[in-house]
Amino acid sequence: PSARTDTSPPVGVSCTNLAKRFPDGTVALDDVTVECPAGGITVLLGPSGCGKTTLLRCVAGLETPTSGAVLIGGRDVSAVDAGLRGVAMVFQNHALYPDKTAEGNLAFPLKMAGVPKHERTSRVAAVAELLRIDGLLKRRPGQLSGGQRQRVGIGRALVREPDVLLMDEPFSSLDAELRVEMRAEFLALQRRLGMTTLYVTHDQVEALSLADQLVVLRAGRIEQATSAEEMFRRPATSFVAAFLGGMNLLTGTHRAGRLHLPGHPDGLPLPPSVPVPTGDVTVGVRPEDLRPGPGTGADLVLELTTVLTELLGRERLVHGQLGELRVKARLHADIDVGERLIVHASPADLHLFGPDGLRS
Ligand code: ATP
Repeated sequence: PSARTDTSPPVGVSCTNLAKRFPDGTVALDDVTVECPAGGITVLLGPSGCGKTTLLRCVAGLETPTSGAVLIGGRDVSAVDAGLRGVAMVFQNHALYPDKTAEGNLAFPLKMAGVPKHERTSRVAAVAELLRIDGLLKRRPGQLSGGQRQRVGIGRALVREPDVLLMDEPFSSLDAELRVEMRAEFLALQRRLGMTTLYVTHDQVEALSLADQLVVLRAGRIEQATSAEEMFRRPATSFVAAFLGGMNLLTGTHRAGRLHLPGHPDGLPLPPSVPVPTGDVTVGVRPEDLRPGPGTGADLVLELTTVLTELLGRERLVHGQLGELRVKARLHADIDVGERLIVHASPADLHLFGPDGLRS
């Protein structure tokens, strides 16, 4: 069954020079320009307070930007009411009507839009089958599990056949296992229906698994926007590198082949093949790119003192002290707190950032 009787091609969303300053002076968005491709999932990722929800609400028409424009399908919707923009939003707390059945909740937006009864019934049935809640339609929200309630919440957005689906941390109130399951289910559904989606999360794993385009926001500005794969492979700033995958950042001063770090005055010898600029610099390396042992002589070698180990499953995340810095390594090794640990990274796995945080 298809929830979309509307077979028009998906539309893109563009935000141009969007700014939002709240009356108390808080700048939630500061000159944000982003293109969200038609039919794809754009994930907005960033720490708490960076402006993700505000951006979504500006697209929805629930917030009026201070300046800039939102275009949906190439049309400037700045003067268009929220209800007429062809967008639907799914919230973290699905806010279903507690006294209505699942069916009543799904049908309500259609009723408000004046859709005739027979069409309401068939559209609700199609969406319910799609979301595998067709056996639960007579239940009220209180008689549904968290995951089932969230399916009803998504169904209520889809039943309107929106051009654009806006999702604000839709699965964050679910427990870890269910969250992963719902995420995969949603991805399959999105691939099948192809609705343009803007998806807000602060969870980097969720972001990597869903994003066709990943947008990292920091304090109301776009830090980087590209494919998830590219962002992970080549983070444009040290902020993105640390936020996405928890890269270790060794920030110090490079002089004559050695990286001088806080609390580590002798400095680390840098691999000669890596073009590290002289002066203040950050050398980044991911925990999974550190390997046990001293390497080949061409590698960056770190001598750590183990301060904490976390079992991840097959591997351990070992937290080591290097001068005043903490370095994390993802290793198969069995190691105790207090032990010396020597790890190395291949030059190809090092990321360099300048004092401004930009990749160099
Ligand atoms: P979270 O992940 O915590 O939900 P977020 O990235 O979605 O955060 P926003 O909710 O967009 O962030 O908020 C961005 C900034 O704007 C924050 O500093 C927030 O405190 C502020 N803000 C949001 N709404 C208002 C408001 N109505 N009045 C004043 N400031 C606001």
